[in-house]
Amino acid sequence: EAKRAGRDCCMVFDPAMHERVSQQLQIENDLRRALPEGELFVVYQPIVALPGGRATGVEALVRWRHPTRGVLTPGGFIGVAEEVGLIDAIGEHVLRESCACFADWRARLGSRAPRQLNVNLSRAQLRSPALPELVGAILAEHGLPPQVLQLEVTESLAAQDEVVQATLRQLKQLGVRLALDDFGTGYSSLACLHLLPVDTVKIDRSFIAHAETIEYHRVLIEATIRVAQSLDMATVAEGIETAGQAALMTRLRCDYGQGWLYGRPLEAAALERRIAETHAA
Ligand code: C2E
Ligand code: MG
Ligand code: MG
Ligand code: MG
Repeated sequence: EAKRAGRDCCMVFDPAMHERVSQQLQIENDLRRALPEGELFVVYQPIVALPGGRATGVEALVRWRHPTRGVLTPGGFIGVAEEVGLIDAIGEHVLRESCACFADWRARLGSRAPRQLNVNLSRAQLRSPALPELVGAILAEHGLPPQVLQLEVTESLAAQDEVVQATLRQLKQLGVRLALDDFGTGYSSLACLHLLPVDTVKIDRSFIAHAETIEYHRVLIEATIRVAQSLDMATVAEGIETAGQAALMTRLRCDYGQGWLYGRPLEAAALERRIAETHAA
């Protein structure tokens, strides 16, 4: 509150700041209604095996169909959700909705259904001691074997914090898989990778974007892949947009790719149509 009061003081002096703050407050108010009103939904982006590009899984990504602003991506509201304590409820909603959708695909599409579901976790979720039980209950409710679910956490969350470490160990005991998201951003350390109980390392899009043009980036990607391999961890290249990037990641022996080249995030029904088209072709 002190922080907010501090920000409010600035409104008097700076119209641009006033505009930003009142927009922020508006988003905050709208977001409180979004969940009960059913405005939040989940889109799914394919994750494919390299080489070949055969889809093996999907990542669930939250979206907000705002009544006046159109469809918002998490960049526009996840930060606010964290600040005002709504992220827990949103995270649970995404987990429930995506698991229900994934179970439905398995039941109706059989061997065409994606084999793995990736879901992002926030700091607040990871710090909740109730998370492993919640995850177990949702999986059981839909009859899903735990290994089909892969939970994505960022490195800053996974390291250091003992509460988080304990939660991660419990999730592993449950049988779900863990992925380290956005690897390479922040203070990443290849030397500490073996300390984290993760099955998969996702190399951040910012490295893939420059992999072909900046040698240092390519070398970092290569080193990450080698270290991950030696630890029996799978690797995913995030944000593959061009055939050149895909070829390079394949040459570097990255296991999986994700990005616009393979498919943008789609709503469940649209992804299902895409799967049907792919199999018809
Ligand atoms: P992320 O987990 O690293 O997800 C990948 C982001 O990269 C997604 O952005 C996706 O749409 C985008 N992307 C994928 N391929 C490409 C590409 O080829 N080019 C470009 N330019 N972008 C690509 P999105 O959906 O806006 O999500 C942003 C971030 O918000 C996610 O990054 C994740 O950290 C967070 N997020 C998304 N959904 C959830 C959620 O349900 N819970 C939590 N806690 N965080 C979420
Ligand atoms: Mg992710
Ligand atoms: Mg990521
Ligand atoms: Mg990323």
